[in-house]
Amino acid sequence: MKVGVLALQGDFREHIASITSLGVDAIPVKTAQEISAIDALVIPGGESTTISKLAKAFDLFDLIKARIADGLPTYGSCAGMIMVAREIQDPASGQETFGGIDMVVKRNAFGRQVESFESDIEISGIAGPAFRAVFIRAPWVESYGPGVEILATTLTDGKSHAVAVRQGKVFATSFHPELTHDHRIHRYFLESVVGAQL
Ligand code: GLN
Repeated sequence: MKVGVLALQGDFREHIASITSLGVDAIPVKTAQEISAIDALVIPGGESTTISKLAKAFDLFDLIKARIADGLPTYGSCAGMIMVAREIQDPASGQETFGGIDMVVKRNAFGRQVESFESDIEISGIAGPAFRAVFIRAPWVESYGPGVEILATTLTDGKSHAVAVRQGKVFATSFHPELTHDHRIHRYFLESVVGAQL
């Protein structure tokens, strides 16, 4: 099985390290040939406007969009979550997404004061103690369709927002599990979404 981590921009190296530490090979991908050959895709955190622009500039945008629509198991973290949303509530001009999950996301949703923070959260499907989630200028899910499974939420100003979601073969988190030594999110993706035997 070949897991590809989109290596246009962002912290793809950390995702490769997390997946490799689970005994699964992961490679950086940034050409059409590489993207055509993978069995699963991770879209890392970084800057979604840049990932969107570079995917278009390198002629990869339509290919990635089509592969996700065709059922390629995909995990998007932070900017990656934005990239798999159907719609961005407040897109930068010309900013588009690959789609995959029937949701509207809000970028930089947690506001300036708390742009980056850590929080222990319960995630459905992840056994054991609460997960230490690292949020860095993170998005949240503003609204979603009936096919979307909500796996985790956070409470901000008394309002609950989804920060881990799944629709079929596409999984997304607002936070960055690759920045901690807890690999349960990557294990969940590989075992439950991709269907790998670890
Ligand atoms: N705010 C960034 C964006 O809009 C995401 C930040 C991140 O990936 N850590 O793409």
